[in-house]
Amino acid sequence: MADCLFCRIIRREIPAQIVQEDEHALVFRDIQPQAPTHVLVIPKKHFGSLLDTSDADAVLLGRLQAAARRFAAEAGLSSFRLVANNGRGAGQSVDHLHYHLLAGRAMQWPPG
Ligand code: AMP
Repeated sequence: MADCLFCRIIRREIPAQIVQEDEHALVFRDIQPQAPTHVLVIPKKHFGSLLDTSDADAVLLGRLQAAARRFAAEAGLSSFRLVANNGRGAGQSVDHLHYHLLAGRAMQWPPG
């Protein structure tokens, strides 16, 4: 996607603090962190949100969780939250599927 912000980060057209990368996924620091640790886990393949994936993408979706787990393990996180906002009503502002990984402070439930 030519004008997608996160696709542009993947292509290195926009700078980002990348902390992990493999063939399928990128993990980088959120520009407006909401916790001491706040990274975004994204697929390199463009999906607007989880609703744009299908059962055929199950392996890729699993890879994103694996990337999150690797980051958490390497960062020594014993607890963290992994969350995806899907749709404007849920707070999604960037239309490229992404999971927020937040850690380092007490979390509230349910989230607002
Ligand atoms: P959401 O609102 O759930 O769609 O999450 C989008 C996230 O992307 C927000 O937490 C933003 O702070 C973050 N964000 C926006 N632009 C950038 C950027 N250039 N680099 C890193 N994170 C960004």
